Order: sequence, then structure tokens, then C-alpha cells
Amino acid sequence: MPDPDLRELDEILDLARAEADRFLEGLPYEPVRTQRATEAALEFDGALPEEGEGGLAALRELAGGGEALIRSAGPRFFHWVIGGTTPAALGADWLTSAFDQNAGAWDSSPLSARLEVLAVDWLRDLFGLPEGWGGVLTTGATMANFVGLACARSWWAERHGVDVDVEGLGELPPAPVLSSGYVHPSATKALSMLGMGRDRVRRLSRDAAGRLDLDALERELAALGDQPAIVIGNAGEVNAGDFDPIAAMADLCEEHGAWLHVDGAFGLFAAISPRTAHLVSGIERANSVIADGHKWLNVPHDTGFAFLRDPSRLGRVFSVSAAYLPGPDDERPVFFNLGPESSRRARSLAVWATLRAYGRGGYRRIVERHLDLAQRVARRVDEAPDFERLAEVPLNIVCFRYRPPDVPEEELDELNERIGRDVMADGRIYVGTTTYEGRAAFRPALVNWRSSEEDVDLIVDVIRELGERARASA
Ligand SMILES: *Cc1c(COP(=O)(O)O)cnc(C)c1O
Repeated sequence: MPDPDLRELDEILDLARAEADRFLEGLPYEPVRTQRATEAALEFDGALPEEGEGGLAALRELAGGGEALIRSAGPRFFHWVIGGTTPAALGADWLTSAFDQNAGAWDSSPLSARLEVLAVDWLRDLFGLPEGWGGVLTTGATMANFVGLACARSWWAERHGVDVDVEGLGELPPAPVLSSGYVHPSATKALSMLGMGRDRVRRLSRDAAGRLDLDALERELAALGDQPAIVIGNAGEVNAGDFDPIAAMADLCEEHGAWLHVDGAFGLFAAISPRTAHLVSGIERANSVIADGHKWLNVPHDTGFAFLRDPSRLGRVFSVSAAYLPGPDDERPVFFNLGPESSRRARSLAVWATLRAYGRGGYRRIVERHLDLAQRVARRVDEAPDFERLAEVPLNIVCFRYRPPDVPEEELDELNERIGRDVMADGRIYVGTTTYEGRAAFRPALVNWRSSEEDVDLIVDVIRELGERARASA
């Protein structure tokens, strides 16, 4: 059956449903990573077939690749910051593929355009951003940073009398971009994509962790005089879940007329709980604020969102025109004029569905459960004689290292890095190491809605077990 054939569709969808069930049923107990993951991935090989074997055969082969999957959708994945998928979001995402809408314009999908308007506005409300702010869904926080910083660049060039979106950067000086040491590499990647230079961001840190030197920021802004600057605030950095002082940065940006962009990929969710909302106070005075969907919102990859205080800037930066396309003044939202992609996946369906299903209360409970779980892990670390916590736990990340009293300081980095590799090969939990204040450290991040006390207790237990084994074999 070498050509696509409608007759196989039923069987293909039944197979997909059965395989999805099998995968999801195993999520709570199967290893996050199997021992054969790499070999199993490499078993997919060979040249383009001259003649295919049909859809069902291809799907069976694909389903056979399960050993090469990482169960990052499950409750024991604590590496990087990766969420799972709520039931409502997963169902909506399946329908997104079946409906296969082009979410570029109202005329290509009134449903997805309408749901994007609603979803962005519900998220704005959820995060406590003022009415009047607008935004757009993106593929993730990197592209959301790109959107926010593209608008910042447009504003900055305008202050120099240049329409950079039309004329380009040629006539302009380098843009001053200021941040703390917490700035995420995706923001610098966005600066590089924008032609502003990855290395141009000034990291004004006052210590080895990267905390903002607020006085230095004030000095730098004052020294620029009338020159416009772009400031990147970091709401939730990846090593310890710490925050730049956003309100103080907003004060300085207002005083010196700078654009404030806030990267809140996961940290923006602090706004949802009264226990942590103070961490993001001041975001309502920023110019652009972004977050991720596939982290704490627990919608499938790939989803993020960018919010703009003045959403009309989006149309100036991203509008495309062609005789056959609707113009930017169209009464119905034309999202290809408001973001980097033209044809787009209807990400709004899953975002709308999960917010509709669980509401403000459901998300507050998810966030607060993770706050509690993070404190639980911190407590277990503090109580253990063979562990050392390295940072405060303001949110959902616990930064610590394995440190039995009889291991000399100079051997700790190597030991922790080795355990990190062993933990990921072991597969019961998934969490690697980072470098925090110059020391190798674990930094599990809790964002998956399924994670329980039992799951997070494995963090200390498994690291200790593999730590003892590593020392015994050394
Ligand atoms: C994850 C993350 C990003 C990048 O997000 P993607 O979804 O991978 O594009 C940016 N900033 C911060 C703080 C992050 O944690």
C-alpha cells in the first residue's frame, strides 16, 4: 500500500490510541530513560525507501521505538524545566492535529484565532498583568523572548529616528542591553537572531551566582544619558529559581526611559499564588513579559507566550503584506501579522482547553503543590548529614550537592558530576548537574502536575544510593 489511503486511517488512529494508552499508563512507574535509549534511537536508520510499506507499518515501527523515549511527560523528570501535559491539554492537542488549522489568520481559522485572543487574555489575567496588554502565542520562551526583544529593538531604533523593521540596523549604533548574570541563553540567542549580537548584553552581577548589581544598573543607565537602553529582567533563573528585583528595575527603567523586558519562562507562574506573587511585583510596569507553556502550564510542546504593554507594536514589527493576504488593519486578529511565524499550529486550542478545564484555582493548586514539594525536598536535604543545600528555595527549584563529611572539598565537583551522569543512566529519576557559584550542584525543578511526595522523595534517595555506590567503586 504505497500511497496514502483513507482506508488505513481508522486502523492507524486505533494503533495511535492504543500506543498512547500504553505509554501514559507506564508513565508513573517506567524508567524515565531506559538503558537502551541511545541504541534504540540509532536502530532507526537506512535510506529513503523507494516504495513505502504503508501507514500502518510505519506507525508500528515508530511505536517500536519506545525505548528511545524520555518520559519527560511523567512525574519523575526533574531535569531542566519541563512540564507534562494535563488531560485537557492532551485531548485538545490531539484534536489540533486532526483539525489541522492554519492559525495564521481569522479567515484560515476563526476558531483558533478566537481561542488565541481568549487564551492570551486569560493568561494575562492569570498573571495579573493589566487590562489593555496584548500578546501572541509562540513556540516557546526562546521565541517569546525574540518577540519581546524585537519590539524592544523597534522602540529603541525609533528613539534614534530609524524604522528598523523597514530600514534595518545599518544606520544605528550598537544597542545597550543590560541585565544581571541570571540572563538566560535563549535571550542572548534572540539578540543574535535580531542582529543585535549575542555578546552585547552587559551582565551586571554582584556575586558568583549572578545576582543583579542594582547600583551598577543605575550607574550604567545614568551614564547613557538620553540614549535609550533595553533592560532584561529575569523572573526565575534556572539554577535556583531566584528572581531579579523586578520592581526596582522597573523604577530605574521608568526614571531613565529604558525598555524593560522580563523573561519569566517559568517564574511568571509565581504570580498565581499569593505566597509567591511578591517575587514578580513590578512586572505590570514592564514593557514586555514572556513565559513558557510547555513548562508550568503543562501543555504539550511547543508553546510559549509573549505579552506587550503596547500590543500595537507587534503589528509594526511582524506585519507581512501580499496582495492575497489580509492586511494588518483587518478587524479580526491576523496572527501572522503579530508574531514571527506566518502559517502556524493552532496552539490556542490546548491553552484554552486547559485554562477552561482547571481555571485559576486549578493552576494555583498546581503551583502551590510544587512550592510545597520544593520545600519538602529542601527539608530532606537540610536534615541529611551527607547533603548540603547551596541556595534559598524561593520557588520550585532546589539547588544542592551530595557532600558526605569525609569527602574533601576538591573532590566534590567530580563526585557530584559522576553521580549526575549515573542518575541519568539509572533512569528512576532524571536530574543532572549544573554549576552554581563555581560548584557542581543538582537543581531539580518541579513543574510536572503529576509529581507527588513519593516521586520527589526519590531525589535524595536515589542520589544518595548512587553516591554511595560511586564512592565504593572509586
Ligand atoms: C526554558 C527557559 C527559556 C527557553 O525556553 P524554551 O521553551 O526552551 O524556548 C528561557 N528562559 C528561561 C528562564 C527558561 O527557563
